[in-house]
Amino acid sequence: MARLTKPILRDFLHDALPDAEMATVEKILRDDASARLLFEEVRGEEDRGEHTIGAIWRREHLSCATRDQLGGYLLQALDESRFDYIDFHLKTIGCPFCQANLDDLQKKQAEAAEPIKARRRRIVNSSTGVLRTVTGPG
Ligand SMILES: [Zn+2]
Repeated sequence: MARLTKPILRDFLHDALPDAEMATVEKILRDDASARLLFEEVRGEEDRGEHTIGAIWRREHLSCATRDQLGGYLLQALDESRFDYIDFHLKTIGCPFCQANLDDLQKKQAEAAEPIKARRRRIVNSSTGVLRTVTGPG
């Protein structure tokens, strides 16, 4: 694939390329600002048409992040290049699968956050007691 053209980008949007080419197109979009402009143009044209984004991504494609990676992304526990990749995939590519996954993970993390805080407080309190005993007279 020498350079991206509108028909290729349209196929990309419709998930109509072979997996390897899907990945190649996404890589080119990531590296090439002018390709991104063209992609925005194609996406704008498609949005004005009858196609919905939801219908376009019918299946998970090769470039999608795993749940583990998205979890790391949420916690900002990824190395910089991996973080940038997922950030790009979510915000520039606008992948609805990964966004839905991320929303779900975010909700689960929020639900889990409260008990963890309470548990941490308890541990801090009890270790303060231990320290006091150990560093007593003597
Ligand atoms: Zn994705």
